[in-house]
Amino acid sequence: TKENGGNRLGIYTEALSSKRVERFNMETGLRYAVERQELVLHFQPQVSLSTGKVYGAETLLRWHTPDGKIIQPDEFIPLAEETGLIIPIGQWVLEQACMECKRWINAGMPALVISVNLSALQFQQEHFPDIVRKVLKDTGIQPHNLCLEITEYTAVQNLEHSIRMLGELVDIGVKIAIDDFGIGQSSLLWLKKLPVHTVKIDPSFILNMIEDSDGDAIAKAVIEMSHSLGLSVTAEGVETEGQLMRLQQLQCDRIQGFYTGRPMSSDHFIAYFQEISNWVG
Ligand code: C2E
Ligand code: CA
Ligand code: CA
Ligand code: CA
Repeated sequence: TKENGGNRLGIYTEALSSKRVERFNMETGLRYAVERQELVLHFQPQVSLSTGKVYGAETLLRWHTPDGKIIQPDEFIPLAEETGLIIPIGQWVLEQACMECKRWINAGMPALVISVNLSALQFQQEHFPDIVRKVLKDTGIQPHNLCLEITEYTAVQNLEHSIRMLGELVDIGVKIAIDDFGIGQSSLLWLKKLPVHTVKIDPSFILNMIEDSDGDAIAKAVIEMSHSLGLSVTAEGVETEGQLMRLQQLQCDRIQGFYTGRPMSSDHFIAYFQEISNWVG
């Protein structure tokens, strides 16, 4: 009836406006999050399947709000991207990640590869390579110890720009990984055109690998194709020993997932590194 429809509409607008308030509050909070030091970096280990040793870590952002909540990136990165705040935030992440990597070296750890996620907006900045050069210089990190992750989606948005930008970054000597690979509908052919080092297989293909023969077939195909193009492969979302063993059998280069370690604080990562000797029997 009309009345019911009216009610539903009423509830809908109310929900919408409280969503707007929530969004506005979050945007205001996010504006000050960097200077108030509320953003925290976590690090998730990446393990080499050929050596069983820790290869590096991916930097993942968390927001510790003043009211004691921890907000996950899926909840605030999209807003940071819409508002452009991802530019200063992303630059802060890059600097901090390189500083932590330096701290690990100073703590006696070998130089690992630190991975940092790049948003499309950062990647579109023409002077982004200058930012990278400056951060490397200021922190004293070697270029080959830094890996920049861009999503498959960002990479194929503007192929011409990507080829040029990635070329400049590769000239600096940093590594490039294509994130969330396999979920886009793009052809695999463009991979050949882009100067990248690593392909990260999306967790959706790994999670059901053992039970789901399609997931297994896709992982296998991505690994084989990447290797034939001279690229290494990191499988994300590895949660079980069975998945680890299967990926090792498929000659996947590295894994990242809850099985070998959840995202953790920098201090935890140092302790983790000292404790773990080898993942592969
Ligand atoms: P991503 O780059 O694909 O990062 C991997 C996500 O998978 C992380 O979620 C990680 O915690 C999660 N993950 C890792 N292992 C497993 C596993 O075994 N099982 C399952 N179910 N999940 C696993 P997180 O930390 O919530 O980050 C979500 C996304 O937010 C990231 O996806 C990335 O796109 C974005 N993000 C995080 N930090 C940054 C940042 O500093 N800058 C930018 N631009 N984006 C970021
Ligand atoms: Ca990533
Ligand atoms: Ca990913
Ligand atoms: Ca993702």
